[in-house]
Amino acid sequence: MRVTGVAQRDAWRSRTMPLTEQVRTDLWSIPVPIPGNPLRYTLSYLIAGDSSLVLVDPGMNTEPTWRALEAGLATAGAAVTDLTGIVVTHVHPDHHGLSGRLREASGAWIAMHPVERESLPARIWDEERGPAGDRDWLRTCGVPDDIAAELAMTGEGLRWVLDMVEPTMLLADGDLVPLPGRRLRAVWTPGHTPGHLCLHEETEDVLLTGDHVLPRISPNIGLQPHAAEPALAAYLESLKRTAGYDSAEALPAHEYRFHGLADRARMLLAHHDRRCAEVLAVTDRLGPATVWEITQELSWSRGWGAVAGMMRRAALAETAAHLEYLSSTGRIATVPDAPDGPAAPAAARGTDAVPGTGAVPGTDGSGPLRYHRPVSPPA
Ligand SMILES: [Zn+2]
Repeated sequence: MRVTGVAQRDAWRSRTMPLTEQVRTDLWSIPVPIPGNPLRYTLSYLIAGDSSLVLVDPGMNTEPTWRALEAGLATAGAAVTDLTGIVVTHVHPDHHGLSGRLREASGAWIAMHPVERESLPARIWDEERGPAGDRDWLRTCGVPDDIAAELAMTGEGLRWVLDMVEPTMLLADGDLVPLPGRRLRAVWTPGHTPGHLCLHEETEDVLLTGDHVLPRISPNIGLQPHAAEPALAAYLESLKRTAGYDSAEALPAHEYRFHGLADRARMLLAHHDRRCAEVLAVTDRLGPATVWEITQELSWSRGWGAVAGMMRRAALAETAAHLEYLSSTGRIATVPDAPDGPAAPAAARGTDAVPGTGAVPGTDGSGPLRYHRPVSPPA
């Protein structure tokens, strides 16, 4: 791996905001802040075609973000009102949050993958059944009632993500973004979210990687109950696919630009191998254990004690995603083993109102699920 965004990395290290940069002819990287978040900023990308301007991942819906975006566009010689289209790699609020306001100001179309549209919190959250279903999910994970009360989701708490807008255009895998004069192709990379897209600018050979591949951190892969495929299995497949773009410079949505996608994909695959081994080791040590019990025993970058609030939900969803993956490959099972085997963890599924956090309306409210190692591995 070789860092190409050296100024961006230096800014990252010195905890300052990187500058708006021209990365290629008519292709700009515009950092916009995520106030109060350790990721600090989203790298938004402005790409000009013959007579149109597309912005990828506008950022969080906050005033400082908006002002930074306006300033960055001005550096590139553009204004908000010039935008003809917006593409979001995925619907997390630090990427898609500002899309609605931008569309109001510019009339730009908004594009995303069809599966990602189905992941919009407003499409998933059921105002009536959501809160009870969410508590059921936390109970299924074995979260004690007093902690579940702190972690529970409510419509009020979700308001800021429920307001995010619907797309006006869908981009399937292999589709070209409607940007005359450019060949900007959608590459579907499910995992971090079910409809996550990377975008390959074929002439310049750059891959906008969104949150799928970042140079420094491993993106959160959480339980995605509404996705067709287990999140982690999908992510590992997507990583292998990304390795095929090794000649391309990676333009991620956070941190800094780099070369060496195959290397980075290998590192991330190895990271998940190690994590799976750790989950198995913890399960061996604990005996039959709930998602909550296993989560607390895993290693977290600043220790479990420092994992608080919504981060606890993300950690829980990440552990659940690993358990789901290990179940699907027969390496772990629930107690008592359900007659239909690997499908059993589906009892811990449902829908997640905030992608990646595993909020679930509609589990049946029975006791917590416990996981253990099956006595004899499947043939
Ligand atoms: Zn992000």
